[in-house]
Amino acid sequence: MEWLKRIFNKKNGIPPARLPQVFFTNTLSAHKEVFVSQKPRLALMYTCGPTVYSRVHIGNLRAYVFSDTIARVLISAGYHVRRIVNITDVGHMVGGGDRGEDKIAMGAARERTTPEAIAEKYTKLFLDDIHDLNIDTDNIKFPRATEYLKEQIALAKTLEEKGFAYRLQDGLYFDTQKFPDYGKLGDLSHVKLEAGARVEVVKGKRHAADFVLWRAAKPNDLQQWDSPWGRGNPGWHIECSAMARSLLGQEIDIHTGGEDLAQIHHNNEIAQSEAASGRTFVRYWMHNAFINIEHEKISKSIGNVVYLSDITAKDLHPLSLRYFFLQAHYRTPVSFSWDALEGAASALDRLWNLSLHISNESSRTSAPSEARDRFLATIRDDLGTPQSLSILWETLKSEDYSPQEKWGLLEDADAHFGLSLLHPPVHTALPEKDIPKEVQVMLVKRTEARTKKDFAEADRIRGDIERSGYRVDDGLDGPVLIRTTL
Ligand code: AMP
Ligand code: ZN
Repeated sequence: MEWLKRIFNKKNGIPPARLPQVFFTNTLSAHKEVFVSQKPRLALMYTCGPTVYSRVHIGNLRAYVFSDTIARVLISAGYHVRRIVNITDVGHMVGGGDRGEDKIAMGAARERTTPEAIAEKYTKLFLDDIHDLNIDTDNIKFPRATEYLKEQIALAKTLEEKGFAYRLQDGLYFDTQKFPDYGKLGDLSHVKLEAGARVEVVKGKRHAADFVLWRAAKPNDLQQWDSPWGRGNPGWHIECSAMARSLLGQEIDIHTGGEDLAQIHHNNEIAQSEAASGRTFVRYWMHNAFINIEHEKISKSIGNVVYLSDITAKDLHPLSLRYFFLQAHYRTPVSFSWDALEGAASALDRLWNLSLHISNESSRTSAPSEARDRFLATIRDDLGTPQSLSILWETLKSEDYSPQEKWGLLEDADAHFGLSLLHPPVHTALPEKDIPKEVQVMLVKRTEARTKKDFAEADRIRGDIERSGYRVDDGLDGPVLIRTTL
């Protein structure tokens, strides 16, 4: 096997037994920690997914680009990553409490259809959005909560048998006082609040932090099933504990979500999973900060919700949103504005054009460089996306690096950023090899002129392109070249 080790070392530059170090900020410790997986070279990751009663907005999409970036960093460092993103199609009340209005039922009433049809429609739209954002779904399973009722009931039963739950007329409740470690993720302000502040008070509930595991059905509940506690439906938190356990095991490496989930949903997941297994549920908890819109919370009642479809309707490429996210560190709250997004779109356009140049100059062959090492160290340091983006820009614009070194960096940048840098959308109509180099250069210059809003120059170049036997159309995915002569 020595020869195999030698080849491996040569190719990747790292010893086979040790992967490069990756650091993440762990909400459990509030510190940056070196990532160590339970099993060598395998990372098990769970991300709280959408409640499929309406479209996901750009704030939600930050949470999924964030977890995709974690997975990309781990894959590039040599891990195999196994991922779950659950689809919540039952049990999630408005406000996230035990009782109240069920989101899926609300969606079904709004669109005069069934819970199943609502869930189906918005799951598909969610999957389309994440596909358009280049989220790598190869290693992800998307289980639906309604497909895991048996597992949720079994877990709730275990908790009851172990003395962590009590029955009320209203359903089965988790007894947080029986679990001394309750609230590991911190911020228990909700426990001090009177339970009725946000949530309808449940008669007999022993403590404000206690939460429903299985909710007794109201007569007109559209979604209800048999259980040891009568007909009903599962609490929201139990689905994540049950699906993580069934699909990844009792101990997982990384669990992610937006920062709003830590306080209640994730503290409750920990309580359920650890009370049942007696083991640590998650080693690294990671949370993204929020996207606001023009400094205000994204909210239907304010009427400021932005969807990915609004972005493409303005002829901006969906990946401009991904670029916009990457400009900020995931733990930094960000205010979205259309101006800022347009800025991101034009920066991405320039990056694509640079990539086109370098692709030609390097003949798509890569060489290692010190810039590439710096890039990797930076992105592996708690996902330093803004800093690694600057390393990319500085290197591509510098004359100190060869085209091959630049191409090498572009390969790594593309693997981590998911911005289609190696295949900019400008190539969609004709394969690159079929476009003469001088026409490619003209196209790049025209795009640059348009970016600078020098439309006279852009039109002049369009004329040159046409005289070379090509037509340029400005499609949704960027300029498209069409050959007009044989
Ligand atoms: P929900 O469907 O509300 O459970 O949200 C899905 C994911 O999006 C969760 O991880 C939330 O924490 C996250 N999220 C919700 N709103 C925002 C926002 N404005 N910015 C960033 N993440 C968000
Ligand atoms: Zn969850």
